[in-house]
Amino acid sequence: MLTQIICLFFKILGPNELAEHHPLLNTADLHGGVFVPADAVADQSAICKVLSNLAEAGGAKYVTDCKFENLLTENGRVAAVDTSLGIINCQFFVNCAGMVSQKLQ
Ligand SMILES: Cc1cc2nc3c(=O)[nH]c(=O)nc-3n(C[C@H](O)[C@H](O)[C@H](O)COP(=O)(O)OP(=O)(O)OC[C@H]3O[C@@H](n4cnc5c(N)ncnc54)[C@H](O)[C@@H]3O)c2cc1C
Repeated sequence: MLTQIICLFFKILGPNELAEHHPLLNTADLHGGVFVPADAVADQSAICKVLSNLAEAGGAKYVTDCKFENLLTENGRVAAVDTSLGIINCQFFVNCAGMVSQKLQ
């Protein structure tokens, strides 16, 4: 039976079931695993390239080797970002620093 969390369907498997799914898996020290039938293998660099090409075609500009230093606010809104390459004024600011997002303020 599949369990669902938000949009993700999965099944918790014991070591024997894991071995049935993947005979080369060493299950000797495993208690179990999570099987997600909708999982797939993709070429992540190709996906990133396509997404970045589409973003650039839509007007996005990428700046690399640039470290975020500080947010500059005006009237409670982000007005600019202080970076290792200087200050960048912005109409909109999206924080997409992954796991360290909460530390960037
Ligand atoms: C080992 C591992 C395996 C994974 N495997 C999968 C998988 O198979 N399938 C899947 O769907 N997901 C997988 N994930 C999860 C997936 O990688 C993340 O969910 C996804 O990368 C998050 O994307 P993001 O853009 O939010 O953050 P990130 O990809 O973390 O991007 C954040 C960016 O912010 C930059 N940054 C941080 N601080 C600063 C700063 N001060 N100044 C400038 N830049 C900064 C970082 O350099 C980074 O480039 C895996 C994660 C890990 C760790």
